[in-house]
Amino acid sequence: MKTTVEVDLKWFTMRQNNSGGYFIRNEEVRDTVIIQALSPDDAEARAKTITYGNDSYCQCCGERWDNWFTESDADEVPSLYGVAIEDLDKEAFRYDAVLYYFDGTKRFYKFGVGFVPYDELEDND
Ligand SMILES: [Zn+2]
Repeated sequence: MKTTVEVDLKWFTMRQNNSGGYFIRNEEVRDTVIIQALSPDDAEARAKTITYGNDSYCQCCGERWDNWFTESDADEVPSLYGVAIEDLDKEAFRYDAVLYYFDGTKRFYKFGVGFVPYDELEDND
């Protein structure tokens, strides 16, 4: 029997630490990674898959990713530090974000500009 349930999806944000003095910017990760998920646990599982292979770091700078979430990290809309991404401009350490939607869709967002195709992002590895 088919069962349909309605769930509230939330957004969870990871800010990349530029461990070793550089960011990893490619088709999987940007300086900001935003994940739509069912729960903090679901977001963590997705985050581990996304950052796998994009997680090099040096001991003195600390780990590149903090991919542990709690309910208090959940946002209603894609956000950074609790501010909706469309209200944020580009800054020195904030160029762009990759958004992972619950249904598997992936989109790239350039701060101060909007959603763009991958090849319009800067500093790709
Ligand atoms: Zn270091």
